[in-house]
Amino acid sequence: MAEFTMDLNDDQKQVRDWLHGFAKDVIRPAAAEWDEREETPWPVIQEAAKVGIYSLDFYAQQFFDPSGLGIPVAMEELFWGDAGIALSIVGTGLAAVGVLANGTEEQIGTWIPQMYGDVTDVKVAAFCSSEPDAGSDVASMRTRAVYDAAKDEWVLNGTKTWATNGGIANVHVVVAVVDADLGSKGHASFIVPPGTPGLTQGQKFKKHGIRASHTAEVVLEDVRVPGHCLLGGKEKLDERLARAREKAKAGGGERVKNAAMATFEASRPAVGAMAVGTARAAYDYALEYAKTREQFGRPIIDNQGIAFQLADMRTQIDAARLLVWRASWMATTGKKFESAEGSMSKLYASETAKKVTAQAIQILGGNGFTREYPVERMHRDAAIYTIFEGTSEIQRLVIARTLSGMPIR
Ligand SMILES: Cc1cc2nc3c(=O)[nH]c(=O)nc-3n(C[C@H](O)[C@H](O)[C@H](O)COP(=O)(O)OP(=O)(O)OC[C@H]3O[C@@H](n4cnc5c(N)ncnc54)[C@H](O)[C@@H]3O)c2cc1C
Repeated sequence: MAEFTMDLNDDQKQVRDWLHGFAKDVIRPAAAEWDEREETPWPVIQEAAKVGIYSLDFYAQQFFDPSGLGIPVAMEELFWGDAGIALSIVGTGLAAVGVLANGTEEQIGTWIPQMYGDVTDVKVAAFCSSEPDAGSDVASMRTRAVYDAAKDEWVLNGTKTWATNGGIANVHVVVAVVDADLGSKGHASFIVPPGTPGLTQGQKFKKHGIRASHTAEVVLEDVRVPGHCLLGGKEKLDERLARAREKAKAGGGERVKNAAMATFEASRPAVGAMAVGTARAAYDYALEYAKTREQFGRPIIDNQGIAFQLADMRTQIDAARLLVWRASWMATTGKKFESAEGSMSKLYASETAKKVTAQAIQILGGNGFTREYPVERMHRDAAIYTIFEGTSEIQRLVIARTLSGMPIR
């Protein structure tokens, strides 16, 4: 029987330390500049590609770590460096997970390498689900995919919004409605290959935080993609739709897993780990500051009012990490999320990041309020975690529904 341990193994520690070095030496020093520029930090992504951090191999290794801790450990370290730059480095992963979760082996082998490009010519990918009128309410999505049997092509029309890397991606993964009567069960995911006519970038958003990460609308006008770009293939889709129609006729019943939800399930603990990274960065900074900043002739940490805040910050960060690790371990070892443990981890970690970064500003006083010190940026960045990949309210809804079995609204 396997012994219970909270220790990372030697390989995991090595990867963690290597990523921490990259976060400290490459990401952190570039953070303020790219936050101000509000542009994708291509040179940093290139650096990450050179050392092997921005690559399919690296993510596959972490993804298939049998303990489930590869991805959360990696996310925490990179986001400790800087959230905006780290999201630029890992944003492609969300699209890659969309293909891993729903694609065939051939699709995985064909499209994921094109999402990353290579060291001399790095590329990014985008996962496009959200729409102007379909954020939390994914089921009200309007982007349509219609099958043209004569040409074996799918025709996509609609407007996506908030897409990380939208419009600048080499490969876009687009979720669209194939059967409007089935709500979110009638959705399917499609690859839009590089250079496909009809896909254009709409508005690029100017944001409150994670400003080094590109976020934009993606407009799809008569975008034609070959039949093999439907993730999972037509046969599987037809079977899934037939099952969903039968269940709808029989009055609902068991849930049918839809394409976008499969992506979110896999990525929620990873987002929790990003939040832990940002929270830990702000806490580390505030702790050092509190030990060196003197008022009334002694370091401010000499006051319980400050020291106890730091004690609470660290306790909450560690609790968040444990929830994230539990959910990641459960997902990888095939344990069912009976109590929405994935959502719990994302909810608690993201709320912790917001709280802890706000406390860090308070501990730094006036300096914390300026862009001369990094905690102000970390606080702006932390605000995203309670919004994307399902808002905190939606996580609570998922948890409450799972626990109660009631259709709570
Ligand atoms: C920087 C950034 C990057 C993003 N990247 C991507 C991406 O790469 N791909 C992608 O597809 N999407 C992406 N998103 C979209 C993100 O997932 C959505 O913003 C999020 O799901 C919320 O949707 P919304 O913004 O439409 O808010 P809304 O759904 O309009 O919610 C507004 C408020 O109402 C609350 N609310 C809504 N419904 C309920 C309810 N039933 N009960 C209680 N409260 C409720 C919400 O919690 C929120 O507080 C990104 C968003 C941002 C900001």
